Amino acid sequence: MSALVHIGTRPETRSGAVPRHKWRALHPQAAQLYLENRCHLDCRHCYESPATHPPAHHLSLAEYDALFGELASLGVLFLTFTGGEIFLRKDLLDIVALARRHRFAVTLYTSGTLIDEAMADRLRALKVSEVHVSVYSHDAAVHDAFTQVPGSHTKSVDALRLLKERGITTVLKANILRCNVDALDELMALAASLGAEIQLDPTVRPRLDGDTSVLDQGVSPEELRRKVLVRPELAPAFRRHAAEELCSGERKLLDDDAVLCGAARDVVAIAADGSVLACAFFPTDAGRWQAGVPGRSLEDIWLQSDQLDAVRERRFATMHRCGRCELRPTCNPCMAFGLVEHGDLGACNSASRHGAAALRGLAELKAQANAKMTRGRALPIVGERDVVVAPPLQGRPLLQTEP
Ligand code: SF4
Ligand code: SF4
Repeated sequence: MSALVHIGTRPETRSGAVPRHKWRALHPQAAQLYLENRCHLDCRHCYESPATHPPAHHLSLAEYDALFGELASLGVLFLTFTGGEIFLRKDLLDIVALARRHRFAVTLYTSGTLIDEAMADRLRALKVSEVHVSVYSHDAAVHDAFTQVPGSHTKSVDALRLLKERGITTVLKANILRCNVDALDELMALAASLGAEIQLDPTVRPRLDGDTSVLDQGVSPEELRRKVLVRPELAPAFRRHAAEELCSGERKLLDDDAVLCGAARDVVAIAADGSVLACAFFPTDAGRWQAGVPGRSLEDIWLQSDQLDAVRERRFATMHRCGRCELRPTCNPCMAFGLVEHGDLGACNSASRHGAAALRGLAELKAQANAKMTRGRALPIVGERDVVVAPPLQGRPLLQTEP
C-alpha cells in the first residue's frame, strides 16, 4: 500500500465506465515520474522522507510499458525521471529505452554520481533530451559537506563532463543555500567551464512529511532580495512601472480568478509505486494507478479524483487568508506546500510566504529607486508574474521560481 495518504477518488459507476467529466478536455503535456526512492546521498535540504517516499515501492518494467502507453494516450509528450537517485535502479536504462520507444522526450534528474562512461554512451545512444545534475557549490568541500558524502562533488562534476563530451544537453542545478549564496558567481563559472546550463532555485521546501527544519538551509527573504534578486544579470526581467503598484496593492502578480499553477492541468506526477500526484511535490496521492485494473487506469484517476478536481478549481480568491495578507500582490501560492504544512490546499505556507516576502522587499527597493531616478533612466524593476525569471540562458530561465 502506498505510504502517501490517499485522499479519494470517486467510485466507479456501477457499469465500471468512466463518467463523462468536465475536465475531459484537459490533457497533461508533461509527467514527472519518481522511479526510485532510495538515495545514497543525504543532502541536507532533501524534501523526501521515508514516510512519504518508502524505499521498497517499485513498478516493474512491464508496468512501465503499460503506464507509458496510458501516459501517451492522455496526451503526455515529456517525461522527467527523478528520485531518490534514479541510477540506483539497475534497469534504469531499460526504462529510458522503453520511454524512448514510446516516443517521449526524456529528461533525467540525478546526482550524477553513478554515471560512468558506458552509461553516458548509452544515454547518448538513447537520445535523452537533457540530464540535470545537482551540484551545490564550486567548492568540493562545501558540496560534500552538504550531500554528507565525501567524493560526491568529483563524481557529479565528472558526470557533467562525460555527458557533455557526448553532446548531451546538461543542466547544473542548485538551490540557493546559506552555503552557496556568497559564491554563485563561482558556481556559474563552474557550469560554464563544463558547458552546462545552470538553473538556480531560490527556495528550499519543507520535507513532505511536514518537517520544516530543512528550511534552515535556505536563505532569508531579505538575503535573497539583497544578494540575488537585485542583481540585474540574475533577474533582469523586472519592469519599472509596476513596483509602486505592487507595493500599494494596485497591481498583483496573479489575479483573484487566475489558475495558480499547472498542477493537475499541464502536469501529472507518478510516485514510484504508481500513485498519481497533482505535481511532484504533493504529499498525498489522488489514487494508485494499477495496470489493467478497472477504475485504476490513469484516465480514470485523472478524470475522477476529487483531489485533482480541488487542485484544478482552486483560485486565489478561495485561498483562506490571502485576502487580508499584505504579501498578496507579490505571492504565487503553492497548493502542495499548503497541504504539506497544514493538510490544506488553501493554506498559507513557508515556501510561498518566503518567495512573496522576497519579491515584496525587492518591489519596495525598486520603488524607492524609482522615486530617486532621474527622468529617462530605466532601472530594472519588479513587475509581472515572471518577475524573477532571469533572461533565458539557451532558452532556459536561470532562476527557477515556481515552488
Ligand atoms: S503569503 Fe500566504 S497568506 Fe499571504 S498571499 Fe501568500 S499564500 Fe496567501
Ligand atoms: S506551485 Fe506548488 S502545487 Fe503548483 S506545480 Fe508548483 S509545486 Fe506543484
